[in-house]
Amino acid sequence: MERIEIAVIGNGIIGTLAAWKLSEAGFRVALVGKAGRPDSASMAAGAMLNVLGEVDAELDDYGRRKLAIGERALGLWRNLLPPEIYVADKTHIYRRDGGTALEGKAFAAIAAAAKSRPERQTDRDICVLPDEPAVSTPALFAWLDAKLRGRNVPILETVPKADKFVHCSGAFTKVPGALPLYFGVGNAMTVRDIKLDIPARTVMRTPNRGNTCGLHIVPRGDCYYVGAGSYIATGPSEGYRIETLRYLIACLESDFGVDTWQASIQPIKGYRPVALDGKPMLGPMRDNPSVYVATGTKRDGLTYAPVIAEDIIAWATNGPRSAFAGWEPDRAPISFGPREYAIEMYIENRLAALHEHGRDAKVDDVRRDAEAAYKRGHEHFKVPATFGFHPEMLHVI
Ligand SMILES: Cc1cc2nc3c(=O)[nH]c(=O)nc-3n(C[C@H](O)[C@H](O)[C@H](O)COP(=O)(O)OP(=O)(O)OC[C@H]3O[C@@H](n4cnc5c(N)ncnc54)[C@H](O)[C@@H]3O)c2cc1C
Repeated sequence: MERIEIAVIGNGIIGTLAAWKLSEAGFRVALVGKAGRPDSASMAAGAMLNVLGEVDAELDDYGRRKLAIGERALGLWRNLLPPEIYVADKTHIYRRDGGTALEGKAFAAIAAAAKSRPERQTDRDICVLPDEPAVSTPALFAWLDAKLRGRNVPILETVPKADKFVHCSGAFTKVPGALPLYFGVGNAMTVRDIKLDIPARTVMRTPNRGNTCGLHIVPRGDCYYVGAGSYIATGPSEGYRIETLRYLIACLESDFGVDTWQASIQPIKGYRPVALDGKPMLGPMRDNPSVYVATGTKRDGLTYAPVIAEDIIAWATNGPRSAFAGWEPDRAPISFGPREYAIEMYIENRLAALHEHGRDAKVDDVRRDAEAAYKRGHEHFKVPATFGFHPEMLHVI
């Protein structure tokens, strides 16, 4: 085999797209990963290309930056993908009457960011996002794999010798010196044999319902993709979380009046890659610039992938890069905000999530859990006393 210039380790959406684009840019590339992409987040994803749909709070600098990257990504996907890969052309965010205050805030933040006035329908408000589609992941990967074959990119199961490396094995990415990385376990399912009264080729989804994506329904022709729960873990796990599947089915029934009597489901699980501080990890290692790390993309890496591939090309060609400045993989963790604010956000999200699942807790108990986690976190990660941990991370700290 010819000497490999760049080995791309990990064959999810980021690795597969980057390997193809690097090869098109003239590099001798190899892609490393198993056939079938076991445990891939990309394969488990609802594959919404949602940008505004992911807004969950009033926009701050980080939110505005994410929005700009996402909007660029949507444009790149539009130019890249043939129409048959799409399963939906637009997204409706809905908020049913009686939801939590947190869901209401997230809904208002999406409408404000979208500069849209929600439509009122019987028991819900709907914010229409006309430019946020969804794709079929099987069709997307079949198309990308054909592109790789067309360029004779070797797909290997072991890492070859190479001049440079891109590490993008999702939650499994292991690079010494990079920030700790966790598994954002996502349980979802496909559902068949139901009658669902929603507009054609439209994603229906809620905003954030407490550290989760809420409910999203993606039409996939012969079935519906229904997702997704989220909890953070330190590694992969066996099986599917019953409560998540039960919750998703209950939402289908309560929010859409679906009769699930004769429906069948196929559970799905994937691991969102989540950095200690919840921010993406994108860029070369400072002490080893021939290693680029692309992970920590959490719940919207599929949407971002073309912008990440652009940045990888810029790194490989020594071109200018600025899209992800500050998100270097070996940075010091970024504070979520002042400690007290981060703890309040944890409490708000935790209570909302528990409420969604028909459980309640006392604020004082949740606060005590948070304080205990902070004590452990400050000792273990040696962060300043004022550091605010990302609310989702407290369970594994
Ligand atoms: C349930 C769920 C729903 C989601 N919905 C959306 C959505 O609608 N829109 C969106 O934009 N994002 C969504 N996401 C997030 C998105 O899927 C991720 O951010 C993104 O797919 C991450 O891509 P990746 O290429 O980094 O990782 P992955 O897709 O996880 O790919 C990593 C690959 O590396 C391979 N691998 C593992 N270990 C090794 C190794 N040692 N050597 C080589 N290869 C290895 C794995 O087999 C896998 O194929 C969702 C995630 C989940 C779990």
